[in-house]
Amino acid sequence: MHCAGCYSRCINATVDEAPVSQLIDKEWGRIFKEASSLGISFILLAGGEPMLRWDVIKEASKIKKIIFPIFTNGTIMGEEHIKLLDGNRNLLPIISIEGSRTATDSRRGEGVYDKLGSTMEQLNKKGILFGASITITSDNINEVTSSEFLDGLAGKGCSVVIFVEYVPIDGKSENIALGEAEKEYLKERVNALRKQKEDMVYISFPGDEEYVGGCVAAGRGFFHINSHGGAEPCPFSPYSDINLKNSSLKEALSSKLFERLRLEGILSQPHKGGCVLYDKKSEIEALIENK
Ligand code: SF4
Repeated sequence: MHCAGCYSRCINATVDEAPVSQLIDKEWGRIFKEASSLGISFILLAGGEPMLRWDVIKEASKIKKIIFPIFTNGTIMGEEHIKLLDGNRNLLPIISIEGSRTATDSRRGEGVYDKLGSTMEQLNKKGILFGASITITSDNINEVTSSEFLDGLAGKGCSVVIFVEYVPIDGKSENIALGEAEKEYLKERVNALRKQKEDMVYISFPGDEEYVGGCVAAGRGFFHINSHGGAEPCPFSPYSDINLKNSSLKEALSSKLFERLRLEGILSQPHKGGCVLYDKKSEIEALIENK
């Protein structure tokens, strides 16, 4: 999903959450069209819950040159949704799951695990490609990387597993973020899984960035558009100095903040592992204040 090029090939878009001043469907449609004309290949739709922005999903379905992985909680999947996904294979549902029934239901609510199972069954019946997204913490790392758990997902028709390392952007809950030994374990385990279970695609974020030359934020391979239209280096680095409501994508990619991050070498600075911009957040805040 991330590329090593010096110009963005991927966008992460948060399409819901903000009740006021969020981008409307036509604005997202304009952004998607411009992205297509710039050669951007992937736009990840996330939230909150992007399936609540059905208007935006419909706009996405029209842009056939772009693959839209939709990061959904998987609980909103009626006939209408399945029909749209079935007819527009550029839409790729990625269902969030926490691990076992106990882990999923305790974090997401009673009965959610069964609901996700039924959503996967519906997608599988129609032959719709889908994946699972799992936030990895020090609490669930062993379970969600186990063969038992992953074979269970494959048995339900899941073809892509995305491991997303938990990043405590609020500075709280650092206790469940992965330590150095756990990051190393994850890296080795993902490499082993890629050799052992070739029928499933495994993506590890941000772990895989080491294979593409480090942090790909700020348009180096990837950037984030929040639900208000703010262009941010990455969802894990929520700072912005330009808005897509009144700017083009090309202008956003050349924003002062993005250019300084790319040109001043912050993205490639040494850091403690995991997310470089989280590690360097005081430097980013200084860039915004002194722009
Ligand atoms: S800001 Fe962090 S998570 Fe985002 S691309 Fe850079 S290293 Fe990866």
